[in-house]
Amino acid sequence: MNNLDFDVVIVGLGPTGGTLANLLAMNNVSVLILEKEANIYNLPRAVHFDDEIMRVFQTIGITKSLSKKLIINKGTKFIDDNGELLLDWPRPKKITENGWYPSYRFHQPDLERSLRYNLKKYKNVATVQNAQVYKTVNKKNYVEVNYKNTKTNKIYSLKSKYIIGCDGANSFLRNEINSEMENLGFEQRWAVIDVILKRKKKDLPDRTIQYCSQFRPATYCRNVGKRRRWEIALKDNESSNTFFKEKSLWKFLSRWVTPDDVHIERKTIYKFQSAIAKKWRKGRIFLVGDAAHLTPPFMGQGMCAGIRDASNLAWKISISCQKGHNEQLLDTYQSERVSNVRDYIKTAMKMGELLNSIGGSKVSDTVFIQPDGSIKMNTIKPKLGKGLGNPKDSNRGKIFPSFKNELEKDIDVLYSCEPILITNRKVNKKEFPIKTFDIKDIPKIDMILKKFKSNALILRPDRYVFASSNEKDLVKFSKSSIDQIYN
Ligand SMILES: Cc1cc2nc3c(=O)[nH]c(=O)nc-3n(C[C@H](O)[C@H](O)[C@H](O)COP(=O)(O)OP(=O)(O)OC[C@H]3O[C@@H](n4cnc5c(N)ncnc54)[C@H](O)[C@@H]3O)c2cc1C
Repeated sequence: MNNLDFDVVIVGLGPTGGTLANLLAMNNVSVLILEKEANIYNLPRAVHFDDEIMRVFQTIGITKSLSKKLIINKGTKFIDDNGELLLDWPRPKKITENGWYPSYRFHQPDLERSLRYNLKKYKNVATVQNAQVYKTVNKKNYVEVNYKNTKTNKIYSLKSKYIIGCDGANSFLRNEINSEMENLGFEQRWAVIDVILKRKKKDLPDRTIQYCSQFRPATYCRNVGKRRRWEIALKDNESSNTFFKEKSLWKFLSRWVTPDDVHIERKTIYKFQSAIAKKWRKGRIFLVGDAAHLTPPFMGQGMCAGIRDASNLAWKISISCQKGHNEQLLDTYQSERVSNVRDYIKTAMKMGELLNSIGGSKVSDTVFIQPDGSIKMNTIKPKLGKGLGNPKDSNRGKIFPSFKNELEKDIDVLYSCEPILITNRKVNKKEFPIKTFDIKDIPKIDMILKKFKSNALILRPDRYVFASSNEKDLVKFSKSSIDQIYN
């Protein structure tokens, strides 16, 4: 094992690979990133992420630079062909328990640049571009990765403890581990038109509008700066040639803008799909992000799911690199993530049905009729699936709110690499096998613990609750918890 070149090889430097590399680098794991393209893909796909994702970016340390390039998203309205409101999903401008606003708009290349720039500060991370991975070998104690420099055609071979495929929707690594996709049933071709405003257009909506229709479902997105986007469902007989013809394109856009108002940055066609890979891991090879799952973008959650995967896997891989391969811990990655991602995909599919006017507005259990008769949706917050911890503990798998210690320092950032114990009882910290905070003097935390109906909680490095307790003997509680995590 000593003659390995790196702890981890990451294949693909999109938003998932970039986030994962940053999280592993923070934990002192040595990482090689192999990316087949020479440059960042300079056109946007994802345009939205939420507070939980911003919290991961905070842990990584990129929120300061990123914040300048974001806008706060006001929410989404679903309206019918007559302009009647079918469903309102407001995202109030209020800091959430994750410590950030509920929803942001961004430009994907800005995020990818921030992630890459931040990686430069780590000596334990190397990136090779024009590097296309074409073969892997999964051995008992290591993995071998083979890649080709696409400019010189020169071939390279390396050994590492793990390979993580962040290689997108057409994942090569997914084929390598023979993982089939489970098709969840949504498949539609949509045109995506990104525009840049040439002049002010105050009459354009300030939030996302989902135009629900049997004839022409469409989405309007209020993106950052002068950027705006329309996504439009294509009919079976429409091709890019027919839909993107100057005349038909401007006819469609004429409801909102003319060629004098906007410059078209790009127009393209995507297949919106819902699918989950059946296997996210084989031996020492893992799948993360679009390589593991695909979701229609109606909730703006595809990339977010990949970042949640990265956050779940990073600390488990780090422990396995530092304390030895931990089969049981690594096995919890797929089981914990898959039900969470499935809930997002299913809700996005129901939104797709509403958009196509073949489904109702009850897209999730968080949709309620308001006293004034309007129908509103609250954001869904699926728990982690089964995995680490006791399934009978009702707090296990819930995300714990972000908080600051007595010195006003954010705990997420200070202790992002190890589990911690939080209690509102005064304890002798030296007796504990885990970093311990007795925080009687922070009223907010006392209140949160009361909400969790516990006087002690163990938080995982990804800030989900591992275990909660009202036991007297907290040392025993923390010892048994630590044993389960590190086994
Ligand atoms: C129109 C549209 C709108 C969307 N809107 C949103 C949104 O608002 N919010 C949201 O959360 N998500 C959204 N998504 C989804 C989001 O864009 C994706 O989930 C996200 O980009 C996936 O990131 P990734 O890093 O997993 O994969 P990718 O971004 O696809 O990156 C994969 C990388 O791997 C590299 N690679 C591939 N094969 C190899 C190989 N063999 N060797 C080396 N490198 C390789 C590729 O070059 C690429 O750089 C949207 C998607 C679309 C299409």
